[in-house]
Amino acid sequence: MATSHPYDVVIVGAGPAGMCAALYTGRSMLRTAVLERGIPGGELLNTEKLDDWIGEKSILGWELAKKFEEHSREFGAEYVTATVERITKLRDGTFETVTDSGDRYVSPAVIVTAGGTPVKLGIPGEIEFAGKGVSYCAICDGAFFKQQTIAVVGGGDAAVEEAEFLTRYADKVYVVHRRDSFRASRILQERLFANPKIEVIWNAVAEEVTGDERGLMTGLRIRDRVSDEVRSLDASGCFVFIGFHPNTGVIDGHFDHDEMGYVRTDTTMQTSIPGLFAAGDLRSQLTRQVTTAVGDATTAAIAVEKYLKTRDEGSHEIVAQGSGGYTA
Ligand SMILES: Cc1cc2nc3c(=O)[nH]c(=O)nc-3n(C[C@H](O)[C@H](O)[C@H](O)COP(=O)(O)OP(=O)(O)OC[C@H]3O[C@@H](n4cnc5c(N)ncnc54)[C@H](O)[C@@H]3O)c2cc1C
Repeated sequence: MATSHPYDVVIVGAGPAGMCAALYTGRSMLRTAVLERGIPGGELLNTEKLDDWIGEKSILGWELAKKFEEHSREFGAEYVTATVERITKLRDGTFETVTDSGDRYVSPAVIVTAGGTPVKLGIPGEIEFAGKGVSYCAICDGAFFKQQTIAVVGGGDAAVEEAEFLTRYADKVYVVHRRDSFRASRILQERLFANPKIEVIWNAVAEEVTGDERGLMTGLRIRDRVSDEVRSLDASGCFVFIGFHPNTGVIDGHFDHDEMGYVRTDTTMQTSIPGLFAAGDLRSQLTRQVTTAVGDATTAAIAVEKYLKTRDEGSHEIVAQGSGGYTA
């Protein structure tokens, strides 16, 4: 049976941002529920290894996720496996967070840390070689491809900019694009065309990621859309930049967002809806890393504590005026 649960703060998503926010709100003695649709960890569970988490020269994604979860639970955060379907602000200023089972979590503040999803190619081998050659993040994984040959798939700003960035590491970068011109800005294109390590393959679509018996990627099969000719690129990496969708569907309302759909916040991580905070990959910002996600989350959690305090003080003032009570 669907039930209603009161909390001080509800956190949607248990990726790095959600778990870090839970640590801070729990530590501030706020009754905290973390609603996660899968296993806590977020994109860390799709990351083989990180070498840019400060303090650890190298750590496995799942291992860091486990440490985050255990640490945040120490301070009392309650984890619930549930998919959030919507968040609505009620007339009394509280939020109602509704899950797929119909359960309702009522709280004066919510932190949305639902992350985002890179758009996949949907071709054979893509999932099989994810983290073993296939990547969606150049800053994260570029350094693993020193002196190697890799392919980048895409033609927008992200693909063109990241292809250029990847030449810091790789000896050769193929850029495979389905059209005969890029959508990327002119300045980015000029830099790319001037780079001798980059070869653009126009009018081509990626068809299959291939690998060896060790489970590592060794090639990318592509098809020419004009001649229909198929060939295989010898490449140990394939970086896919064909889009990224912020998971903002749970916010039921008119929150402010940028032209790509990322949530805009102020410097305290509060959205355009008072009491609704956002942190991590779904937020409009320059870059999306574990360090930025936990930085956002720390700010959001501390801002929530202050928001609740101000809200409570406001309520007491009303009581003092003899308004007939309050329901905070
Ligand atoms: C392949 C790959 C490799 C990467 N490598 C690195 C790296 O080496 N170093 C680095 O710093 N960064 C790396 N990143 C980026 C990093 O993983 C992200 O920046 C970080 O995970 C963002 O954290 P987050 O909590 O904002 O979002 P996520 O990690 O995306 O977590 C969001 C969570 O919300 C949950 N969720 C979403 N919607 C709902 C819902 N409706 N109900 C309930 N739960 C929901 C999801 O299941 C997920 O667990 C990598 C990313 C990818 C994809």
